[in-house]
Amino acid sequence: MTKTPDEAGLPGVPGRRMAHQSTTIGNRALHPSTLMMGYGYDPVLSEGSLKAPIFLTSTFVFESAAHGKRFFEGITGVRPGGAEGLVYSRFNGPDQEILEDRLALWDGAEDALVFSSGMSAIATLFLALVQPGDVIVHSAPLYAATETLIGRILGKFGVTWMDFPAGASRAEIEAVMAAAKAKGRVAAVYLESPANPTNALVDIEAVRAARDAVLASGDHVPPIAIDNTFLGPLWQRPLDHGADLVVYSLTKYVGGHSDLVAGAVLGTKAAINPIRSMRNTIGTITDPHTAWLILRSLETLELRMSRAGENAAKVCAMLRDHPKVERVGYLGFLEAGSRQADIYARHCSGGGSTFSLYLKGGEAEAFRFLDNLKLVKLAVSLGGTESLASHPAGMTHLSVPAARKQELGITDNLVRISIGVEHPDDLLADFEQALAAV
Ligand SMILES: *Cc1c(COP(=O)(O)O)cnc(C)c1O
Repeated sequence: MTKTPDEAGLPGVPGRRMAHQSTTIGNRALHPSTLMMGYGYDPVLSEGSLKAPIFLTSTFVFESAAHGKRFFEGITGVRPGGAEGLVYSRFNGPDQEILEDRLALWDGAEDALVFSSGMSAIATLFLALVQPGDVIVHSAPLYAATETLIGRILGKFGVTWMDFPAGASRAEIEAVMAAAKAKGRVAAVYLESPANPTNALVDIEAVRAARDAVLASGDHVPPIAIDNTFLGPLWQRPLDHGADLVVYSLTKYVGGHSDLVAGAVLGTKAAINPIRSMRNTIGTITDPHTAWLILRSLETLELRMSRAGENAAKVCAMLRDHPKVERVGYLGFLEAGSRQADIYARHCSGGGSTFSLYLKGGEAEAFRFLDNLKLVKLAVSLGGTESLASHPAGMTHLSVPAARKQELGITDNLVRISIGVEHPDDLLADFEQALAAV
């Protein structure tokens, strides 16, 4: 959050930060879905333009040399918390800052950073936190590129990892943390929930309790970061359950139209500061045009995700009872009384719109189903306005060893589906006719 540099006795900078839209009416706190239309932007500063312009500039003019110096104190971390004014487009920009302010509202985060992709967000987070000899503790499985980053890339620099299965109990997580601590300094605890592609949920509260019991005694308390791409920001708010940092691929539900690639990290100011410094150094910030597209996307985020969630519930109810279907792996169908159902009840407010469909048969049946879909497109990715279907064993997880695939339930009869915002009856008709052709 940028402030006017009044503490230094400098005249206020005429920046958009001086005229934030209020987040309340009287005593009433406004909802994020309402605030997405105007929060963080003052039309007066842009010729009265209702919408924020796209600021295509590489650098920003300082009002005085003292202002420039002051802003650079924020950029370099001499003053933590970020620059108090706009400096240079590798560090900050109006579109990116408005986007960060609006994103932070959904998760109730103190601070936020946007990145050029989900993976550049995750890579910048780790580069900021690790040093040689460190251990990363993480839940498993993780998004394939995240596993590659931790195992193969950070591994080259002397960083190791230890993992626990997504559904692990507090005692199991504590045992892994204690073993990791015996190996080296634990740099971070990294989670993904629900995990891709199993949809297994991580008990964030148990991870927090375990971290506080096992890893919080020294002067370095490893932050808990969680990839919330599949359910966030609408259906899961990890900061409320003890996480310090939330990670997004904004490419998915937040961007939501399958027309951009971007990422974000949100959290406490203390946890965000070192990540901002790393982003300033290496330039993994998103560009103004992409930031602007995501501002547009955020105006309909709740509408899109709600509709997609409702559609998915209808589609899954039909699929579950279909004679050609073996099983549907959907968060709305967790077995009552199970540990996963308990985590879901404490952490989630909806089942999302991405799920696994196991057909009776094998690859031939799965391919016939996919090739016969007329409306639903055959593509990887998720969270867009259009419904997509893919075959993990033959596509996203092709390079995963057979034994590991078996363990993760990535069988040849598995089809991964992301439901969009089409009319539900049309989706049902498409799935019915594709199943009839299997
Ligand atoms: C897509 C995805 C990522 C990577 O994001 P990009 O925007 O493609 O870099 C990370 N985590 C999860 C869970 C994802 O689905």
